[in-house]
Amino acid sequence: MQRYYPNLQAIHQQTMQLEYAQCKHCQQTQHLVSHGFIRKKRLGAEPQAVGKRVYCSNRHHRTGCGRTMQLYLDSTIRYLHHAGCCVVALVLLLMAGMTVQHAYHQATGVSMPRNAYRWLHRLHMQASVYRSLPHRPPLQDANPFMTTHRSARLGSLMSTFQTLLQRFGQHLCTAYQSQLQRSFL
Ligand SMILES: [Zn+2]
Repeated sequence: MQRYYPNLQAIHQQTMQLEYAQCKHCQQTQHLVSHGFIRKKRLGAEPQAVGKRVYCSNRHHRTGCGRTMQLYLDSTIRYLHHAGCCVVALVLLLMAGMTVQHAYHQATGVSMPRNAYRWLHRLHMQASVYRSLPHRPPLQDANPFMTTHRSARLGSLMSTFQTLLQRFGQHLCTAYQSQLQRSFL
């Protein structure tokens, strides 16, 4: 069963047709049941639905494994409060030459950049996954994002992002998650 969907309607549709879907934990069919929305808290607004849970039921004569699966909107990053587009925006702004603090403020409206460093850390952790994706070879060897006031790690991340953008386009997070069916971060 697919994990990332373009909208809530598509997720809802999937959870209406669970009979033949396979549990990703125990591989059984016939036991999955829809188990409510996943919502993210938002500042000054109602929590927003970003996905649905599916439960591999072991109740009422069912013999599933009792574990749950999450179906997400492809714009959602599971563990982050902000949507994936904010993370992508942060890196794009850094690539445009902004400082981390300015870029994070611009991308999220939040002035304390503490989270920005967490995001960058996670991106660095994912960088080898990004680099292992098949892609066209880079046009040039020189890394245009290596500048004296930036760390080599950040420069290399930006160059990796450049390649990701070439492959997935500006809506990098949603395209990545929907095409590869795996979490961007
Ligand atoms: Zn199961």
